[in-house]
Amino acid sequence: MQRFPEIIARYEGWTCQQCGKPLMPGKAQLTYMGSVFDVELPKCAKCGMVIVPEELALGKMLEVEQVLEDK
Ligand SMILES: [Zn+2]
Repeated sequence: MQRFPEIIARYEGWTCQQCGKPLMPGKAQLTYMGSVFDVELPKCAKCGMVIVPEELALGKMLEVEQVLEDK
């Protein structure tokens, strides 16, 4: 599972817009170029809402794919 400590740290203390519960690091799945990646992102413990920062959607996953292709 990919972890992004800088993203977790940035969203520390945020609450869910839907139910007001604090966001906790949690497992989420992102799909990129037909592949599914397990990642750790800020997630609402109650409703499961996950924050996917734009930089992750556009940039970090490119890095992930490049790492996979190198293997
Ligand atoms: Zn929620």
